[in-house]
Amino acid sequence: LAASPSQSFALDTIGRIESDYPDKFGIPRQPGLVRASRASLVLLPPYDDPLTVRGLEDFSHLWLTFVFHRSPARWTPLVRPPRLGGNAKVGVFASRSTHRPNRLGLSLVELMGIDTSRGVRLALRGHDLLDGTPVVDIKPYLPWAESLPEASAGFAPEAPPQRPVAFTPEIEAALASRADGDSLRKLIVQVLAQDPRPAYRNGAEERRYGLRLRDVDVRFRAVELEGGV
Ligand code: SAM
Repeated sequence: LAASPSQSFALDTIGRIESDYPDKFGIPRQPGLVRASRASLVLLPPYDDPLTVRGLEDFSHLWLTFVFHRSPARWTPLVRPPRLGGNAKVGVFASRSTHRPNRLGLSLVELMGIDTSRGVRLALRGHDLLDGTPVVDIKPYLPWAESLPEASAGFAPEAPPQRPVAFTPEIEAALASRADGDSLRKLIVQVLAQDPRPAYRNGAEERRYGLRLRDVDVRFRAVELEGGV
């Protein structure tokens, strides 16, 4: 099949993500950075047949191909990766930018369990997916073929720095009163440790920021701590 340059292919949404991240702000740049983040991938008819996931339970990690549905459907040859401070430009195909020709994302996530009691629901952890994200494919991760620690990674050679996170006594008390307080605290610490502020903000500042995680509004400020900002 000689694909002509202008040939386009229709992709079907096979499932939809229900995640801890109701907004884009605060979602880590890549999966694995916030292992406390949880999501469900709910398969849609006709893909919600339990036969489609038979044997998948024996894999610990999955590749999800999805659509950046909340990114604009336009792309540019050059993008400004936050990792480079938001000014330097690289080619869109040299980046993991969400503004790309087919808006396709690719994330490696941890599979925590599969529920086939009503349709198919995959429990996931350590993802970087906005609530409602349409998923177009699932594949099992093969470490022997895909784990390449010796590979070079250009302008993103290692995980971004982690910031220390401290809570006010009021927030500590509010977390202690919740049944999911422990897991929510871990999620908040791991998300704020990524310093979700815009790339060009990297010191302490008076400005307060707000982000939503699960069903809570988190307000935070960057202050000087012994361990850094
Ligand atoms: N790991 C994927 C990849 O490499 O293709 C995604 C990397 S991208 C830099 C991660 C960012 O995509 C997140 O920080 C979040 O802001 C954004 N994002 C996640 N789900 C999205 C969606 N459905 N639509 C638009 N942006 C989304």
